[in-house]
Amino acid sequence: MKETLAPKDIIKSGLCIGCGSCVAQNKALEARMEFDPYGQLKPKGSRQFLQTPSSQFTLTCPFSPAAKNENELAAERYPAAPHTDGYIGRFTQSYIGYVATGGFRMQGSSGGMVSWVAAELMRRGLIDGVAHVVPADPEKDGRFFKFRISRSLEAINQGAQSRYYPIDMSEILEEIRQVPGRYAIVGIPCFIKAVHLLRREDPVLQERIVYTLGLFCGHMKSARFVESFAWQMDVPIEDVTQVAYRTKHPERPANWYNARLTLKDGSSVNKDWWHLADGDWGAGYFMNPACNFCDDVVGETADISFGDAWIEPYASDSGGNNVVVIRHALVQQMIEEGIAHGDLHLTPVDAATVVQTQAAGFRQRREGMAYRLSWGNKGVQPIKRLPPDALTPTRNRKLIYRMRYWISEGSHRFFHLARKTGKPNIYIKWARMAAAMYHALAYQRGKLGKLVQKLKLTDA
Ligand SMILES: Cc1cc2nc3c(=O)[nH]c(=O)nc-3n(C[C@H](O)[C@H](O)[C@H](O)COP(=O)(O)OP(=O)(O)OC[C@H]3O[C@@H](n4cnc5c(N)ncnc54)[C@H](O)[C@@H]3O)c2cc1C
Ligand code: SF4
Ligand code: SF4
Repeated sequence: MKETLAPKDIIKSGLCIGCGSCVAQNKALEARMEFDPYGQLKPKGSRQFLQTPSSQFTLTCPFSPAAKNENELAAERYPAAPHTDGYIGRFTQSYIGYVATGGFRMQGSSGGMVSWVAAELMRRGLIDGVAHVVPADPEKDGRFFKFRISRSLEAINQGAQSRYYPIDMSEILEEIRQVPGRYAIVGIPCFIKAVHLLRREDPVLQERIVYTLGLFCGHMKSARFVESFAWQMDVPIEDVTQVAYRTKHPERPANWYNARLTLKDGSSVNKDWWHLADGDWGAGYFMNPACNFCDDVVGETADISFGDAWIEPYASDSGGNNVVVIRHALVQQMIEEGIAHGDLHLTPVDAATVVQTQAAGFRQRREGMAYRLSWGNKGVQPIKRLPPDALTPTRNRKLIYRMRYWISEGSHRFFHLARKTGKPNIYIKWARMAAAMYHALAYQRGKLGKLVQKLKLTDA
């Protein structure tokens, strides 16, 4: 094994995504997950826990350079998968579509497939519980969302919708270890990777976590994103009881995101993302720094993974459409039966189509990540499936990758300053200025965009 690491090494190197795996393994050492000053969940605990290097940690932290990578984990779990693609990994079949039965599609963020698969696994008696993310009580829990194990179909439905909010698995992993049963876990790719790494070392988790449901992932936001919503909707964050990142409207395309905050008095406020200073997802506001060094967009180690079909005609369909990639033979059979019974409206698509639905994400996390690797990292050097590469990206692409990096870093710092001084405008004005610069560079928009063209900073 390469150098043996401790949690502190990963945290200090900006590589901690806050999955909670190390905390789940060290409850006895006062280990716990807490928000840092930038609204990101990080491990806390005794010096012994944080600073003692161990081979167990080095093998199980998803950002440890010595941990098995996504290709190795997928090869172990899906040796018989008939197809392999450089972007989506091993798979049996991929589809685009939605759930045609019950309220799954309407309640879901996309086509409702995650909740349907979780519910179907339970209905068929294949699992006893699903670990997924549900709303929390901000007053009691000090956060808007948390992982929970749902043990009924009704509880699974309560969890529908995407949460771009820091959550961690420390408590549910502990619960799975304590309470015998068969469990499915829903998670973003790095969390599913963490689960597999832990399963390799822990026979109890190996036996009890029987299915993994992956979400495609662009990046993870900090908890400050919700506070920024509140500032920009003119409501005190203390009054917010519930957060919906994406609400559906029958007359609007699925990709016109509208965020809604529910308040203590039962009223609600909402705003379209494009009216928010930080509402351009691609610009990378509030992104966890670890996401700079992640190359798994589609959850390559999950039994089945789900994203949004961001290509036409699906993106304009107000109901929402999933893109689905299957890797597990039994899940494949379940999906085929769902289609045959008319419960699922899914059309088979090839790997290239899946990649097309996530084109921007793959640019940022493959070409962009290789470019960022070429800068080196302070502390632990991540080892990824791609080598560092500063030669391939064009000048315009390099500027865009640098701008996103700068926006992510700046959003944490300017928000922190604005929060500390009680002056939201410090952040909001900076965020608008950063968006104008990003849009000029990426889309040649506005007066700045003309300047970008004049200076020949575009690819054309
Ligand atoms: C941080 C994040 C980034 C994403 N980025 C992309 C992207 O770039 N491209 C893309 O196509 N799709 C992305 N997705 C996935 C997308 O938003 C939808 O979640 C996915 O298409 C499933 O929709 P659905 O209607 O099938 O799910 P639903 O039926 O609405 O069910 C969603 C399920 O996911 C669980 N869940 C919600 N948030 C989390 C979370 N943070 N961690 C674990 N479980 C959770 C819920 O509890 C629920 O069980 C992202 C999701 C997240 C959480
Ligand atoms: S990424 Fe997960 S396992 Fe690694 S240090 Fe952070 S919380 Fe611990
Ligand atoms: S981009 Fe990668 S590291 Fe970041 S949250 Fe998504 S899966 Fe995790």
